[in-house]
Amino acid sequence: MNDEIAAMASTETLAGPDRYAVFGNPISHSRSPAIHRMFASQTGQAISYEKRLAPLDGFAAAVDAYRLEGGRGCNVTVPFKLDAARYATALSQRARAAGAVNTLRFDADGGCYGDNTDGAGLVADLTQRLGLDLAGARVALLGAGGAARGVVLPLLDAGVESLLIVNRTAARALELASLAGDARVVGAGLDALGEATASVVINATSAGLDGSALALPASLWDRVELAYDMVYGRKPTAFMCEATQRACPRVADGLGMLVEQAAESFLLWRGVRPQTAPVYQALRVAIDAGH
Ligand code: NAP
Repeated sequence: MNDEIAAMASTETLAGPDRYAVFGNPISHSRSPAIHRMFASQTGQAISYEKRLAPLDGFAAAVDAYRLEGGRGCNVTVPFKLDAARYATALSQRARAAGAVNTLRFDADGGCYGDNTDGAGLVADLTQRLGLDLAGARVALLGAGGAARGVVLPLLDAGVESLLIVNRTAARALELASLAGDARVVGAGLDALGEATASVVINATSAGLDGSALALPASLWDRVELAYDMVYGRKPTAFMCEATQRACPRVADGLGMLVEQAAESFLLWRGVRPQTAPVYQALRVAIDAGH
């Protein structure tokens, strides 16, 4: 299959936009096509971008088929980020650190470069749109799944003073902390939040999506300046509502992270960095209007 893909990649591209896609399962909810179409129109890049539903046991075959159709790269979402890390023939440092990939670029020599832009997206949203100074911040990261894995190294690189990773399954948080190999990082179960002195709390769990809520101690909110939920939607999440009830000064959802991680993917594919603020605004208006 690799020879076939290399031969395909080395032939002249037929007229028409370069093709990109997002692979996931489910995928119908994805806003990535809307984001990348706005980026393309803003930067004058001739690309198309579509959603692709891959079978749960068939990620690699689905991506192989897409490359043979002429695809130039793709985003990867739940539940395929670990499969994508295995599929890539080369990984960025941040993808290697995360053990997860959300962006693949198919190169002309048949190689496939894997990157993880989730953490850069989060840090850009926190520092640029929300104006947070991460240097010296004491961060509590809730969750140790794919999303949490992607943000650990970028948060450390941004200069946080400490990073407490807590997870329902404590062993996963301990493992992630030990992978980081940095004295600023501690992993623990959710009960460790009772002793936390965080200035920033980031929810990277999917709790709430199924109606369940995280049980967070009231003392967690004593010093928190910003509560950030990676989940986004028309209504504030249960985590955001709790932060507001506890008088947390600033509360944000993950829409900005979504747009920023997409901009990093676009840069990797096209060599052009799009403006994210107008795209964030357009999406926020669409979501608020129920679209
Ligand atoms: P994942 O790999 O499935 O991990 C889920 C995490 O949530 C695990 O840490 C899991 O704990 C925890 N969890 C699930 N249900 C829970 C509950 N009832 N109580 C406590 N903890 C619970 O998912 P993911 O890829 O990390 O994604 C997590 C969330 O981030 C998703 O909602 C996703 O949409 C969002 N996300 C947003 C962006 C963005 O750009 N805004 C990017 C990436 C992800 P256990 O380990 O104990 O199971």
